[in-house]
This record gives sequence, C-alpha cells and structure tokens, in this order.
Amino acid sequence: MNSLEKKIIGEVDSLESEIVDFTARLVAQPSTLGNEAGVLEVMEQEMVKLGLTPQKVEIDPEVLAGHPGFGPVPWSYEGRYNVVAVRPADAEGGKSALFNGHLDVVSPEPLGRWNRDPFDPVVEDGWLYGRGGSDMKAGVAAMTYALQAVQKAGLGLSAPVTLEGVIEEECTGNGALACVVAGHDADAVLIPEPLGQSILTGQVGVCWFKVSLGGVPIHVLDTHGGVNAIEKCCLLIQALRVMEEEINAEPLPGLPQVVHPANFNVGVINGGDWPSTVPAMAEFHCRQGFMPGTSFDQIKAKVEQTIAAAAAADSWLAANPPVVEFYAFRSLGHRISRDMPAFNLLSDVKKDLVGSPAEEAFSTATTDLRAFVHYGKGQATCYGPEGENMHADNERVDIASIIHTAKTYALFLARWCGAVE
Ligand SMILES: [Zn+2]
Repeated sequence: MNSLEKKIIGEVDSLESEIVDFTARLVAQPSTLGNEAGVLEVMEQEMVKLGLTPQKVEIDPEVLAGHPGFGPVPWSYEGRYNVVAVRPADAEGGKSALFNGHLDVVSPEPLGRWNRDPFDPVVEDGWLYGRGGSDMKAGVAAMTYALQAVQKAGLGLSAPVTLEGVIEEECTGNGALACVVAGHDADAVLIPEPLGQSILTGQVGVCWFKVSLGGVPIHVLDTHGGVNAIEKCCLLIQALRVMEEEINAEPLPGLPQVVHPANFNVGVINGGDWPSTVPAMAEFHCRQGFMPGTSFDQIKAKVEQTIAAAAAADSWLAANPPVVEFYAFRSLGHRISRDMPAFNLLSDVKKDLVGSPAEEAFSTATTDLRAFVHYGKGQATCYGPEGENMHADNERVDIASIIHTAKTYALFLARWCGAVE
C-alpha cells in the first residue's frame, strides 16, 4: 500500500462514527414495501451533504413491461423510485465503477420476538441492531462513505463513479433493473450485501407465485358435506415439496459442495374466516429457487405441471382446478468466471488489508446482481459486511465489518478508477 492509499484508509477510520451514524439513520426508516419515501429522503440528503447530485430513477411498468427481467406486480409504483448519483471523472483513462445497495427491508414481524424496537437502532458490543442494518443499510453506508473517503483524501478519480440506492430488491429486483435500463452501469459493479468478504460468482434464480383455490362452505355440524379449501392447499404444498427435491437432485454445475441451493418456501397463507365454518377460499404464496441456466419459462412450466398433476389426483381439485399466478420475482440465476479483472483486484485489496485473498462464493438467494450480470456489462459481484439474523428478529451487523467494507471499496476505487492527486 502506498502513502496515498494509507491516507485513504486513514480517512475511512476518521469517518467511522459518521458511517455508523448514517447506517443508524437509514435503519430508523421503516422502509418496507411501499414505505420507502423516508429512507429515500435520507439517502438523497446524504448524497447532497457529500457534494453529490442525486437523481430519481422511476420504475415505470409501461417502459419495463416488455423487458424479460421485469417482474409484474399487483401494487403501484406511484411516488416510489431509486436514487442515483453519478460522480463525474476528474481525468480520463480509468475504469468506471458502480456501487449498488438496496434500501428496502422486509417486515420485522412478529415484533414480540425482538428485544427492542427494530426501527430504533442500538449499538452494543460492536454490533448495530435493527431491521435492515445488516440487509443492507450498513453496506449502503459503507459504499457511500468509501467514495467520501477518497474525496476527503483530496483525490480525484479518472473515471466516473455511480452510487445507487434502490428499492424492491426484496421482492422483484425491478428497482435495480430500472437503473440498468436507464443506462446506469459501469465496468465494475459492487454490491455490499451482508454476505461477507467473499466474491460472489453465482446465485440461484428465484420466482414467486400465488396459488388460489376454492372449496365448499358448510356448518361444521356436517364437515364432510363441505370441501375444506385450506386442507386442499396442504395437498398442493406437499407436491411442491417433492418438486423442490427433484430440482435439487442435480448437483450445481461446478459447485457440488453447494447442497440444496434451490429452496422452496411457503411464505404466506390465507384462508377461511371462522373456526366453525368449513373454509371455501384459501391461497398461499410461494418462493421457489432454481438453478442457473434454467429459464423463467422452464421453472414456471414445472410449477404449473406440479400443481396440475397434484390437482388431477384429487377429485375435487380435478373438477375445480387451483389458479396459479406468477408475480414479482422472475429473476434468473447465474454463474460467472471468478477470473475477471475487477474480481482479481477486489481480492488483492482484501489481501492488502487483512492478509488473505477473498474466497469465491455462491448465493442460494437472489440479489440485484442479476440485473447487472444479465442485462448490463456483467462484471458484478457482492462483497460486504457480516451480519446475523437477516429477515429474522434481532437482526444485527458487525461494525468492524462495515468499516472493512468501506476501506475495501475506497481502495478499490483508487486502483480501479485511478486516483488523481
Ligand atoms: Zn439484501
């Protein structure tokens, strides 16, 4: 590490309290689906404070409707957007970089399992607690202040740097997709998801779908005279579990150590409204992972065939078939080469900071990488802080790992884009 780089690292250290404070201010905004206005405002204000010019990138379903990566949704995009700031280059000759982070979080329910208010962040013993702290507002703070550290060190860069705070990573990926479609991409894309100090070279595909079905209502004095819609859901869920095992029976190409990557989950179930009435309506919502190389149409057909076969084996469902609707995520999986210039540099930076290179990793969840890998230039990976209890109670993020991420990103900028004194 040369003296310039040491200066950059020193700036990140001096910015530690501001990085933690920014993380906390982001966490304090309960940015669940449809409630992102507050967190977007915090992000925009921070960009302005750091001398950047934020712009809004809308998610326009009409513009994106024909795009293969767009997940149609039943909710509105009115007043909801992504925030992007492009820091122009100070000189020529470098390679551009883009840092992307999502600002949306999943629901903290059930609140009773938390030891504290999930949206009132607390720092304790080197951890920051709160919904979204780990996934992934700490990463957003780290990437934002990585750029600030370079600026504060008095350095310019020989290529533009883009900072992106997006929405809907947790349900569609439409936010990051809209940014790519609007032309925001770079020679290297880094996403500080809280997956640790590794280089993600692949992830599963993910789709969401809803299954609805009807039964026959009747008073419970004669339950056998009715048809219980909730119990019929159980038949279909069992069939989907068998399908999940079929999908996972094949080893992941080139990564046999990753066991069972394509997980199935029933995440929501609704049905009935009275304990003493046989329920006549029920629906359940699912998430199914699928292997890189499988198309959305292929997984969709497999789900539909599985439901149809299970329904055909039941006399009521055969005559009253369930309705399957795909919505939100239709994100493809991917596997890309580890041997790319940006990934090699990232690993070198990590080695210079902590003494060991970055290991290669695969994610059994989707991330916004898919927008950049499939529809952008493609040299994109995740490298970020370490956290615990994502999507669960008492989510927390390790503060030292946030600072490490900021240092890694700052040094990466200096070397990749080219620092100018
Ligand atoms: Zn995330």
